Amino acid sequence: MYLIQIKDLSFSYASKKDALKHINLNIEKGTFTCIVGENGSGKSTLLKCILGLNKGYTGEIIKETHIGYLPQKSDIQTNFPATIEEVVLSGTISNNVRSVFYKKEDKEKAKDVMQKLGIYDIRKKCFANISGGQQQRVLIARALCATKDIIILDEPTNGLDPSISKQIYELLDKLKKEDKITIFMVSHDVERALNYADTVVELLNGEIVFNGKPQDFKLGGAN
Ligand code: ADP
Ligand code: MG
Repeated sequence: MYLIQIKDLSFSYASKKDALKHINLNIEKGTFTCIVGENGSGKSTLLKCILGLNKGYTGEIIKETHIGYLPQKSDIQTNFPATIEEVVLSGTISNNVRSVFYKKEDKEKAKDVMQKLGIYDIRKKCFANISGGQQQRVLIARALCATKDIIILDEPTNGLDPSISKQIYELLDKLKKEDKITIFMVSHDVERALNYADTVVELLNGEIVFNGKPQDFKLGGAN
């Protein structure tokens, strides 16, 4: 079963034509997909089209479910004065846009997710004061609050130490295996992507140049 189907998607920014060209891609339930490719190849643009943050694309994107999202670091503010708990809970807002109040079920979901990710005991700490690795863990928890099916992450391990980065990949793998969460992420770390992903997709100049199993992958789409 496909959670997301992308059919002949093309997208241009006002100042950047053809940021994406004729993208066809299906995201199968229960899989771990890594998007790789050099800077400026269109990876973040693709995620933003899927999430509805880039308007005016051509082609079709069919979504079967709510999506949790962890943006690229450059797109988020990490110094705001909120507690871990508040950041995680804010992930539930997309589920009940009509209300500014959190429902009991939202609070329970946030608690479950924080416990699962090992951040419940530190939930009253200020988000701005925890390490970069912990912040990403909190943002994964936040993304999980918006969905029961799929999270989309944009370079969640960028700037982290290798050992912390490995922990993040292992956490995502665990969410896939234990909770059947589908993982769709942009990765700057090809080696790790090949280790953990079921499917690797490489973008180059807005086009898919590889879509297949990690063992068949060669950098640059030269296959
Ligand atoms: P990646 O995530 O693979 O590094 P992006 O999707 O961010 O690449 O960018 C793809 C191309 O679109 C790049 O040439 C980039 O400069 C351009 N681009 C990205 N965001 C914008 C924007 N908001 N306005 C104009 N051009 C953009
Ligand atoms: Mg990017």
